[in-house]
Amino acid sequence: MADQKRDYYEVLGVDKSADDATLKKAYRELAKKYHPDANPGDKEAEAKFKEASEAYAVLSDADKRRQYDQFGHAAFDGGAGGGGFDYSSMDFSDIFGSFGDIFGSIFGGGGGFGGGSYGGGYNNGPMKGSNIRVRQDLTFEEAVFGCSKEIELNVKETCSTCKGSGAKAGTTPETCSTCGGKGQVVRTRTGFLNSMMRSVEMCPDCQGSGKIIREKCSDCRGTGFISMKKKYAVDIPAGIDNGQAVNMPGLGDPGKNGGPRGDVRVEVRVKPHASFQRDGFDIYSNVPISFAIAALGGDIFIDTVDGRVVYTVPAGTQTDKRVRLKGKGVPSWRQKGVRGDHYVTLIVETPSKLSREAREALMAFDRATGDSLNAVNNATNPDDKNKKKKKFR
Ligand SMILES: [Zn+2]
Ligand SMILES: [Zn+2]
Repeated sequence: MADQKRDYYEVLGVDKSADDATLKKAYRELAKKYHPDANPGDKEAEAKFKEASEAYAVLSDADKRRQYDQFGHAAFDGGAGGGGFDYSSMDFSDIFGSFGDIFGSIFGGGGGFGGGSYGGGYNNGPMKGSNIRVRQDLTFEEAVFGCSKEIELNVKETCSTCKGSGAKAGTTPETCSTCGGKGQVVRTRTGFLNSMMRSVEMCPDCQGSGKIIREKCSDCRGTGFISMKKKYAVDIPAGIDNGQAVNMPGLGDPGKNGGPRGDVRVEVRVKPHASFQRDGFDIYSNVPISFAIAALGGDIFIDTVDGRVVYTVPAGTQTDKRVRLKGKGVPSWRQKGVRGDHYVTLIVETPSKLSREAREALMAFDRATGDSLNAVNNATNPDDKNKKKKKFR
C-alpha cells in the first residue's frame, strides 16, 4: 500500500551476508556508473545514484544495518522530514574523496559534507508525519465523471495510554545525556587528504529523539504510536486521469514533537475501456458503418460516455472519416463546466458474407457504376510483352 522501496541489498546487488569490503566495492561501482557528473541532467541516473547511496549509507553503518535487518525500511520511516532519507550523516570521503560538494547539491544539503552545515539532519524539533500513498483502481467512466471511494489505511495514532511519550504510565522520558536532548552528535575525524571531516550524526543513545525512555509504555512498546485501520471516503473529481492523485492533507501519519500530520495521497489507476481511448479531456473511438450508409448517407448510433447518440452520416462518406461530437468528452477538472470532445472515426465495412440476392444486387450495382469486375478481362496490358496475365494474390 505505502511507498514500495527496493531492498537495500537488492539495490547494491549483494548478499545479506556481504562484508564491508563487498558493500563498498558494489557501491563504488554503482556510484561511478550513476554519478551525476557522468550523467548530467539524467534524472533516472540521479535517482539510481541516490538509491544506491542511501542503501550504502545504511548497510555500511553497523547500527543502521542491524536496525534495517530487523525492521526493514520501517526502521527509518519518517527519519527526516516525512519519509525522506537523511544523507547528512553520511561520510563519503573514503569513497570519493573531494566529491563532497556534489553530494551536497543533489541531496539538498548546504555546502557539502564535512563542512559542518547540512540540510535536513536529525533533530528533535517539530517534524511533519509521513505521507501515506495508496493506489485506487477506477473504471474509465468513474474517472470521467468522478466518484466516491472508500479506502482503508493503516494509520499511526498517538498512543492514548502514554499520550505519545512512549514512557510507561507514571514515568516520563528523560533528556538524553549523550546529546543533551538535541538528538544529534557531531563527529570529527580526519578525511581525504588529511582534511578534517565533521559529520552530524543521529545520537546513537536516543536514536535522534533527544529523550531516553527507561520504562516503555507496554501498549505502544515505547514508540508513542499505535497502528490502526481507518476508513476514509475519498471524493475522486470528474476528469481525473491515470496516474493523477488526490491529496488529502493532514490524514497521514502523525508528526513528531508537535509537527503536523502527513498527507494521504490517493493515486488513481484507470482501467482501459473496451472501445474508448482517452487523450487529455478528449475521447476517441472507432465506429463501423455499412457501405450503404457510407454511400447513401443515413442515421447511425454512436456510443458515448453519456449514452447513445444519433449521428447523421452524410452521403459519400469515405472510410476513416473523423467526426467530432462536441462536448461529449471528459469534463475538465481545471475549468468547471468545460468538457472535451469525442472524436469518432467512421470505418466503412466491406461485407464479407453475401446472400445470392445481395451478390446479384452488388454485381448489378457494379455494372451500373463502371463494371470494375471485368476491367482486367476486357483490357490488354500494354506493359506485358507476352500478353500473359500473371496474377498476384
Ligand atoms: Zn541522545
Ligand atoms: Zn504508549
